[in-house]
Amino acid sequence: MKAVIMVIDGLGDRPNENGNTPLKEAKTPTMDRIAKEGICGIMNAVDVGVRPGSDTAHLSILGYDPYTTYTGRGPFEAAGVGVKVKPGDIAFRCNFATIDDNFIVLDRRAGRIANTEELEKELDGLEIDGVKVIFKQSGGYRATLVLRGEGLSDKITDADPKKEGKKVKEIKPLDGSEEAIRTAEILNKIIRISYEKFNNHPVNEERRKEGLPVANVILPRGVGKVPQIQPFNEKYGLKGACIAGTGLIKGIAKMLNLDVIEVEGATGTPETAFMNKAKALVEALNNYDFVIINVKGADEAGHDGNYELKKEVIEKIDGMLDYIMKNIDKKEVYFVLTGDHSTPIDEKDHSADPIPIVIWGKSVRIDDVEKFDEFSTYKGGLGRIKGTHIMPILMDLMGLAKKYGA
Ligand code: ZN
Ligand code: ZN
Repeated sequence: MKAVIMVIDGLGDRPNENGNTPLKEAKTPTMDRIAKEGICGIMNAVDVGVRPGSDTAHLSILGYDPYTTYTGRGPFEAAGVGVKVKPGDIAFRCNFATIDDNFIVLDRRAGRIANTEELEKELDGLEIDGVKVIFKQSGGYRATLVLRGEGLSDKITDADPKKEGKKVKEIKPLDGSEEAIRTAEILNKIIRISYEKFNNHPVNEERRKEGLPVANVILPRGVGKVPQIQPFNEKYGLKGACIAGTGLIKGIAKMLNLDVIEVEGATGTPETAFMNKAKALVEALNNYDFVIINVKGADEAGHDGNYELKKEVIEKIDGMLDYIMKNIDKKEVYFVLTGDHSTPIDEKDHSADPIPIVIWGKSVRIDDVEKFDEFSTYKGGLGRIKGTHIMPILMDLMGLAKKYGA
């Protein structure tokens, strides 16, 4: 048996004044069919009352305790852009930014500069106080920074003031440890070096001529220590893959040693190539025992507070599901349809409201639920579960769970 978990990012919502949500109102014949043929419930990815990030939610859904495996966004971003991170590395996400001579931030995104490959070379590979610097641009003004060496700590503050007109923040240790003091010092040096190397770099001289904001500093944030994580294949004995458009989810997959399947046009936005993703999933099932697929557009629409767009995205995903269901066999595949968290239109951010979940496949206890939405699924046979319950339930259905006791 094989298994698929499909995560519709930001799927859940809160009812509007008419008692509707985008999911409830959307025309979703295939989702409803899956609900009808499966066992339904509601799910909190991390825990009841916890507002999850997409990262912590996906870790939980894959059966990893986010409280021990998630140390910050940096490590997952770094893995996502292809840095082969090692346990103990200290990783950050960064922006290229524009500052003046007094280190006041003029533009946090350096005019959304597109070509930063030449600037990358100035920092990547440096060695500072015996610590190796790995620096990779990750598309335009974004980058990732990894420090590798002995005696480092992630108990330090950010450099990014998060606002224009404010000074680049000095990195400070958060505890009195030697490691934190040393890491903060090294990072402050790197920020200064980035200014010295970038400020008069030909890339920036060219931008000055054109009247564009220069990319003359890096602003690291989202620090985390790369955790020791048991690879997915080893934990479950399943050959696993991930299909996702966003770097963060790809990063989580890479950190767990899941193969990341690149899909043309998968952008993580409402314009993503839905059908390409559906086809890639069906194809992946020829080579893998397990696939997690994330579809991101509904979350984006939720963050934008765009009810109609969220509904539209959900309807497009229903089209994907139609193709998927026509091409998988109940005798071979367990299919889980759920989300990672709610992104209510009114909140424009993630909330702790539980999300619908359905498990479809051979011998599941089919319940009375006939509609896949926030209001019907809670009556289903799964009841209310946590993200970390999903993999054990699947392993049991697949006949792969170890017996606990005699
Ligand atoms: Zn999410
Ligand atoms: Zn989100």
